[in-house]
Amino acid sequence: YVEGTEKDINSSKIEIIRAKKLKKKKEDPKDYQFGKTYTDHMLEIDYDEETKFSVPRIVPFHNFSMHPATSVLHYGITAFEGMKAYKDKDENIRFFRPMKNMNRFLESGRRLALPDFDPEELLKCIEMLVWLERDWIPNIKGYSCYLRPVILGTDPFIGIKPSHKFKICVFMCPVGPYYSGGFTGIQLHAQKKYLRAWEGGTGGNKLGGNYAPTLLPIKIGVKMDCKSVLFLDHENKITEAGAMNCMILWINEDNEKELITPSLDDNTILPGITRESILTLAREWGECKVTEGSVTMEQLIKAFNEKRLLEMFGCGTAAIISPITSLIYKDKTYKLSDKKDVGKFGIKLFNTILDIQHGYIEHEWSHKI
Ligand code: PMP
Repeated sequence: YVEGTEKDINSSKIEIIRAKKLKKKKEDPKDYQFGKTYTDHMLEIDYDEETKFSVPRIVPFHNFSMHPATSVLHYGITAFEGMKAYKDKDENIRFFRPMKNMNRFLESGRRLALPDFDPEELLKCIEMLVWLERDWIPNIKGYSCYLRPVILGTDPFIGIKPSHKFKICVFMCPVGPYYSGGFTGIQLHAQKKYLRAWEGGTGGNKLGGNYAPTLLPIKIGVKMDCKSVLFLDHENKITEAGAMNCMILWINEDNEKELITPSLDDNTILPGITRESILTLAREWGECKVTEGSVTMEQLIKAFNEKRLLEMFGCGTAAIISPITSLIYKDKTYKLSDKKDVGKFGIKLFNTILDIQHGYIEHEWSHKI
């Protein structure tokens, strides 16, 4: 590939090498399992402290070959993003608030002591990848292509120091709706034996290193018939619902209807793009008070016992809304609602965001490429 000579990512120099043979696509996009099928091409950009940025390359999807000392393999110098490309009814391709992903990606890289890159130029390169791969995006509402940007420290050096080399790679896979058989609620295991994040830590960044330690508590939760974990902090405050932000709609102690989600203040909560969008929509709708604050497990259980807990859901790019209808906490099960009775507010949010993503509602959040 072309050695790095660019001061920053330069989308106008992009090099495209097309795959000689394209993969066969499935007739029915329903048959694509999440994360199993990847499209024909991917984007790669390399950085070396001496020679700077390579030209961006769109190349056939391929494996990496790495020196065994490569820093990402030892010290977890890696961060990632998750975003989607949607088709609207006129076959336009749309992203949902993509600069939010790009800027979060940049912040994650900074937290790993990697040099800055131009997030707008990266988005232009991603747009070119998605345009080349447009036939992979199913033209059905609720379907999309999931995009996975990832940044990897590629210094072949054993030793704890900032990586002088990194690679940005973006690849994509077609995905169907999270709930193919209609909305169903999930059960979570609320626990604080294993914390996901803590003040001064990295929970507010999307680092690979945040996710590996969640696998053991999730495995324990799954054994208890839970879908995932409701992560609590050391003070028993609710933080996140697995890899989703957590929202509660309740009648608060002051008898006000309130949508509440943990605040981003101490960098323990990932600044989810779905979270921010929900807060904005809920504030616009004005049906309830909207608060970024804290809720302890004790406050949640008190509200449940006093029948003030109206709805609880996780939110994120994958599902948009994932209703939480049952919690296991300290060996007790709290049935918040019937699995199928998932709450009107969550459904309204889901439908509105899906309509914006697919261009049924024209909105500045939907970015046509
Ligand atoms: N929290 C965590 C820990 C996550 O991994 C994700 C998924 N990126 C989210 C929240 C939701 O973020 P978003 O709405 O940007 O997908």
